[in-house]
Amino acid sequence: MGRLSGKKALITAAGAGIGRASAEAFAREGAKVIATDISADALAGLNRTPNIETRVLDVTDPAAIAATVGAAKDLDILFNVAGWVHHGTIEDCGREDWDRSLLINLTSMYETSRAVLPNMLARSGGVILNMSSVASSVTGAPNRFAYGATKAGVIGLTKGIAADYAARGIRCNAICPGTVDTPSLQGRMSAQGDYETARNMFISRQPMGRLGTAEEIAHLAVYLASDEAAFTTGAIHIVDGGWTN
Ligand code: NAD
Repeated sequence: MGRLSGKKALITAAGAGIGRASAEAFAREGAKVIATDISADALAGLNRTPNIETRVLDVTDPAAIAATVGAAKDLDILFNVAGWVHHGTIEDCGREDWDRSLLINLTSMYETSRAVLPNMLARSGGVILNMSSVASSVTGAPNRFAYGATKAGVIGLTKGIAADYAARGIRCNAICPGTVDTPSLQGRMSAQGDYETARNMFISRQPMGRLGTAEEIAHLAVYLASDEAAFTTGAIHIVDGGWTN
């Protein structure tokens, strides 16, 4: 018996990185997983994994969210993973980048949470997991102005949902990773011009001398989604290799 046997989970941005590792980990633990992503290419092949079905979903599209959640029926777990990093300070962040950060990182979670909650409440149970970051209200990080502001918003959204529905069987928690070695991080390191220098900068702030892996974040997500975490809600779960210690 897996730790998520009998549960149905929907994961956003499951085509790569932390979302993909989580989809695979949830499926290994016995959950039926609906792995969604904006990119059909990113999802290709994932539905060959037992217990995983895939579906294209752009988290900025409320109609598509409603349709996907409606088709999924009786979700026990929603894992909001999709996020976007704007690199820069407030001076670098024009209104378009600010709005995009809010839309992908925070408004998307408002939409998906509103879509799943009525059915979860009708069944008196459900878990919402939200991907935040230590770059949030946990700590300020250079050149992560809009990202940190929206990821702090994710923590507020998480705590609000947890407070409103704790007595009705809904748990809602936030995961705050440090720097995790994923395709998007590698892209950001390349975009800075000198990949090795950028990589060494990220590693230098890690007391363990290495970046995290997507699987290490997925292990925490499995725990928080499972009944083992039944007494845990409205909490910030930091997994950052000691960065903000
Ligand atoms: P990743 O780049 O490895 O994967 C991102 C996936 O998101 C891609 O498959 C992409 O197609 C998909 N995607 C992009 N826009 C989308 C949209 N509008 N709708 C649906 N899917 C979309 O990403 P990652 O590094 O694993 O990050 C995942 C989450 O974890 C993000 O919320 C990120 O902010 C957060 N996070 C990452 C790190 C890190 O260091 N990698 C640290 C802390 C928090």
